[in-house]
Amino acid sequence: MATKDLSSAEKLARAELIEMVPYQSARRLQKADADANGKQAFNSKIWLNANEASGPGKYQLSADCINRYPDFQPENLMAAYSDYSGLPVEQLLATRGADEGIELIIRTFCTAYQDSILICPPTYGMYAISAENHGAGIVKVPQVNNQLDVDGIIEQLDNVNVVFLCSPGNPTGNLLPKAQIKAVLEAAQDKAIVVVDEAYIEFSPEDSAQSWLADYPNLVVLRTLSKAFALAGLRCGFTLASKEIITLLSKVIAPYPISAPVAEIASQALTGDNLQLMKVRVEETKILRQSLISWLETQSWVDEVFVSDANFVLFRTPLKTDIFDGLKAQGILIRDQSKQLQLENCLRISIGSKREMDLVQKTMTNLVTNTSALSVQETN
Ligand SMILES: *Cc1c(COP(=O)(O)O)cnc(C)c1O
Repeated sequence: MATKDLSSAEKLARAELIEMVPYQSARRLQKADADANGKQAFNSKIWLNANEASGPGKYQLSADCINRYPDFQPENLMAAYSDYSGLPVEQLLATRGADEGIELIIRTFCTAYQDSILICPPTYGMYAISAENHGAGIVKVPQVNNQLDVDGIIEQLDNVNVVFLCSPGNPTGNLLPKAQIKAVLEAAQDKAIVVVDEAYIEFSPEDSAQSWLADYPNLVVLRTLSKAFALAGLRCGFTLASKEIITLLSKVIAPYPISAPVAEIASQALTGDNLQLMKVRVEETKILRQSLISWLETQSWVDEVFVSDANFVLFRTPLKTDIFDGLKAQGILIRDQSKQLQLENCLRISIGSKREMDLVQKTMTNLVTNTSALSVQETN
């Protein structure tokens, strides 16, 4: 550090930001091409790296009141999510994606340079990034066989303010056992906030922890429109919690977090035919997911296929680099998860359209045939 030349801006900045690496989102690692008008063009590649849905919906957008600030929490939107979730509006906060929910929870419950969060790797990267950015400590209690180490978590509850659980987990894909989540909630009462990140819960809605909000005032549930609702570009998520927690988070959030066009589109997505379309999309995704899993399980070059309750599949292969680079060279983008704890040689494929899934399977088959032909030659 001492030998590095700092810019004048860096000299004025918080020291820990100089070395900090921002979240390596799928879109940061691989930008969309621009079309002739400079607009993002996604059709030149196959995007299976960010757990997005493959096809956009159709929405009406009016710019009538765009000269006015939006409501702090737009009424139509909140009514629509209240209907969808069955929770009263006082127990909901609309945010710029679930990611903003994560950040608000840390800023609300962790005093900077004093308090810590607890995470269970392998898990979603933004918990640690948001904590680091805020100056909160990070206590790690790794998962064991893709489940929680409940005793390990309970041992740490006096040292942390917020526990982040992700169910279904990203990048692993499986739901956490409900009894484990409940055991953590029970032990954490009056000690820590327990966040259950349900970004993928529409793929198994019966497994939501939402009904426990009535019994556990320390529970927070995170949701998003980015995955099953096919609205990742909109940036809209929801935090579900007790009235008291929502009141606190509302002190920390920006004054107009949800822009008027976002509220307008999100309200449409949460009502009528569009809600039905989401459910159809989920069922189609599950069928494609099962065929990808079944196919991967028959492949001799695949060591392990993870259980998935979400819209992606994680698998382990010694050919990780050949597969990832080979797909990329042909314009098919998937996610390398091999740097995560316990996920050596693991790749994650988001479920796209039928055509995209056929293409990714065919391309992998070709790559593996060529690779094994190569390695046979080398050993001869
Ligand atoms: C995608 C994702 C998020 C972020 O969702 P946004 O609403 O797009 O910010 C949060 N948590 C998990 C586990 C995710 O996979």
